Amino acid sequence: MKESSFVSSVLKLLKERYGEDLHTELKHADMTELFVAVLLSPQCTDKQVNTVTEGLFRKFRNFEEYANADIRTLRKEIGGINYYKTKARNLKRSARIIIERFGGEVPDSIGRLMELPGVGRKVANVIQNEGFGKSEGIAVDTHCITVSRRLGLSRHRLADNIERDLQRKIPEGEWRNVSNLFIALGRDTCRARRKECARCILKEICPSSEAMQ
Ligand code: SF4
Repeated sequence: MKESSFVSSVLKLLKERYGEDLHTELKHADMTELFVAVLLSPQCTDKQVNTVTEGLFRKFRNFEEYANADIRTLRKEIGGINYYKTKARNLKRSARIIIERFGGEVPDSIGRLMELPGVGRKVANVIQNEGFGKSEGIAVDTHCITVSRRLGLSRHRLADNIERDLQRKIPEGEWRNVSNLFIALGRDTCRARRKECARCILKEICPSSEAMQ
């Protein structure tokens, strides 16, 4: 099968199984909460982040309050997640920069988002995708890494390299969807530690399928 046909078939099957309008599972009610939740998300599950943001969002409602927060209070609020000390510092500093450099609004470009402490490419992609409905790139998390490699869409291990491969192979109009679709597949059948090819929607076309051998 030609690579472009393979990609089309993968996306079609994944949309049929998981839907076309997938979104992050990080709970948020507005752009400020989205920014904070995604900033706290690296090296954590969405569930862990949602657990700490429930109380955090009740205490802090805007970037002014995060920027002026007592760092010990912030650390205490998010103490249940990995790297909470670094994340508390990044949150406070990012909030200050958003106020002083971006007029209190979360910027909508990857370049500007990445000027903020703690915002790497993946975080920037998720914020842009979820918050602005735009995609300059593809958010590559651990599920995307596993799925992309098993589908033969990349041989790389680093997220930035995998993102470049996916951008070359997947039509730009699908960049918004592909990350959430791969995450859905990665959580369902294509888990890093144990894949369940026998019940996978892609078992008949996936080059790593163990169900058709
Ligand atoms: S067939 Fe197996 S290896 Fe391929 S995507 Fe599905 S679970 Fe992953």
